[in-house]
Amino acid sequence: MRRDPALLVRAVVPLVADLRASLGPGWSCELVASSAVRVRDGAGLDVTGAVDETFDPQLSLPRGALDSSWRDEALEEEASHTLVGLVQELVTEAGGPWPGCALHPGSRPLMVCSFTWLCPDHGHGVAPFGGLTAP
Ligand SMILES: [Zn+2]
Repeated sequence: MRRDPALLVRAVVPLVADLRASLGPGWSCELVASSAVRVRDGAGLDVTGAVDETFDPQLSLPRGALDSSWRDEALEEEASHTLVGLVQELVTEAGGPWPGCALHPGSRPLMVCSFTWLCPDHGHGVAPFGGLTAP
């Protein structure tokens, strides 16, 4: 199934806010022709990763999502997961796991679930997606 590029674009906005709040004002990410995401730190780092233009709804969406009334939310969440995962990989390769949990240093990086950053090792919410604050 083809991913809607508009959903990826929408996910960039909170992601840039979270990069800047947690890592510094020079950080940014942007889509390049809907098929790649570029991450920069404003100080020389400039890395790009490919975004798959298609995905398997069987694997990536909750069961029944495509026929449901919450189809749009499910697709938007899938797009944001994809983008967050890629940017996390790029940032992690460049400088270490991102974003960390302020309460649990050394645990696995936060993950986005239902548009909320969660601490996966300790099972608590940290901030809404787009609402991370400085560590
Ligand atoms: Zn935590």
